[in-house]
Amino acid sequence: MRSSLQRLAPWLLAWLILTLVGALVLARAELGALRAAFETDARIAHRLLSQQVVQHDAVLATLALLSGSTTEARPEERLPSVYPQILSVQRRERDGVWADARLPALEAQSRQLNRAVLGEVDLSRGRYQLVLGAEPVSYLLLIDIRSMVPWSEWPLAPDASPVRVTLDHAGQPFVLQPGDGVRASASGWHFEFHKVLAAPSQPLVANVSRHVGWGELPWRWIVGWAFGVAVLLKGARTLLRQRHERRRAQELLRLGQVARLNTLGELAAGMAHELNQPLTAVLANTQAASRLLGDESPDLTTVRQAMTHAVNQARRACEVVGRLRRAVERPDLGDQLQPVNLEEAARKALYLLEPEFRRHQLTPRVEVIGPAFQVLAEPVALEQIIHNLLMNALQALDTVSASERRLTLSLDSTASHGCLTLRDSGPGIAPEVLPRIFEPFFTTRDGGLGLGLSLCETLACGMGGALTAATPASRGAEFCLTLPLAPALQSAVP
Ligand code: ADP
Repeated sequence: MRSSLQRLAPWLLAWLILTLVGALVLARAELGALRAAFETDARIAHRLLSQQVVQHDAVLATLALLSGSTTEARPEERLPSVYPQILSVQRRERDGVWADARLPALEAQSRQLNRAVLGEVDLSRGRYQLVLGAEPVSYLLLIDIRSMVPWSEWPLAPDASPVRVTLDHAGQPFVLQPGDGVRASASGWHFEFHKVLAAPSQPLVANVSRHVGWGELPWRWIVGWAFGVAVLLKGARTLLRQRHERRRAQELLRLGQVARLNTLGELAAGMAHELNQPLTAVLANTQAASRLLGDESPDLTTVRQAMTHAVNQARRACEVVGRLRRAVERPDLGDQLQPVNLEEAARKALYLLEPEFRRHQLTPRVEVIGPAFQVLAEPVALEQIIHNLLMNALQALDTVSASERRLTLSLDSTASHGCLTLRDSGPGIAPEVLPRIFEPFFTTRDGGLGLGLSLCETLACGMGGALTAATPASRGAEFCLTLPLAPALQSAVP
């Protein structure tokens, strides 16, 4: 008999596996969605910043162009009002001198590359210089990075977003938005995006990163899934249990039908036995008639009538007996014997009575002594014997308290026979009752028929075996069913 925990274990395991698989799928889907959203935002941020820096190149190119025309003396002066990120503009005319000694070299570099180049980059203040060497005037723009960001189009909420965005140069970052901090050591997942801005003159790197912690996994869905799986499995278990119970009930019904048929046979056999009594009386009548004939002047007419009457009665009674016997004659089990695993038969009978055992708060124990064996038996008859013995044990155990109820089934074999011993801790069998318990109609129970054990013994004998009863020294009753071993095993057992 399996404990309820053992019965529950495979279901718990199935729940655990399904929950884990579901949680994995949900977590992956969520992480995939978060990553996709992160990458889209990062690309938009990179594109917006690139557009801005490209614009600086365009501004410088336009300034260089305008400086040759005479329409406006200093067009750069209007720039800071149009472009808030341009903090100041410096110019050097052909005969002029830069204030900063490093600038001539940068200007020369710009001329050589034919594009603007980066001047001093001060990321601690979020500023950098952009120098363009041109004719007749060279320019320098001082750019404020923070003002350069088009916040109205920015895809992320700078204060609330968990995404960190920096613009890096030579390993130094300028933080555009802090995010929730990238905790490389913290457990979870880490998304990163690095790309140089799309203007060769300003090779700043847009660095976008985000940390996803365990708390961001879709726990509600996961818990919902776990709960759903539990409900589904519970439903499946109930369905399966109902199917098992139905099968068990059908089996019990079948066993009950077989038992009723056999009991009927036993009853009929008893009745046949009863009918033999009048026959004995008839015999006595005829003997009396014969005595009458011994008289000096016998009343032959009376004697003849009595004899005829007696003979007719005897014939009728004999016919009844014969008819009854023929009707109830049990088929010879000898023809139907086949190798049967006695342990399996015992376990099947236990399984069928599981609800009864539960009701009696009893857990039967099965002991297998020695190697597995098979006996020669008619499976239904064997099932019926074990079932009857178990039912008797249950009835006996009804009379003792639940804590004292024990039932053990031991399986053992000798060189020629297999034995099943049922031992219960009931009140046992009184010494004066023991010799009679296999008699038909012998019972000590109210409402008992007294046919169960007699039928079991008949069935056991019909299969070439035996059924015996004993009262062990400790307490309770002990029934021992012996059946011949199946031939293959008989020779194998030493
Ligand atoms: P019934 O159960 O109808 O009495 P049985 O032939 O099955 O008929 O049993 C005959 C008698 O054997 C019972 O009345 C009871 O006295 C005795 N008996 C059978 N099994 C047990 C048992 N396990 N413990 C004690 N007595 C038993």
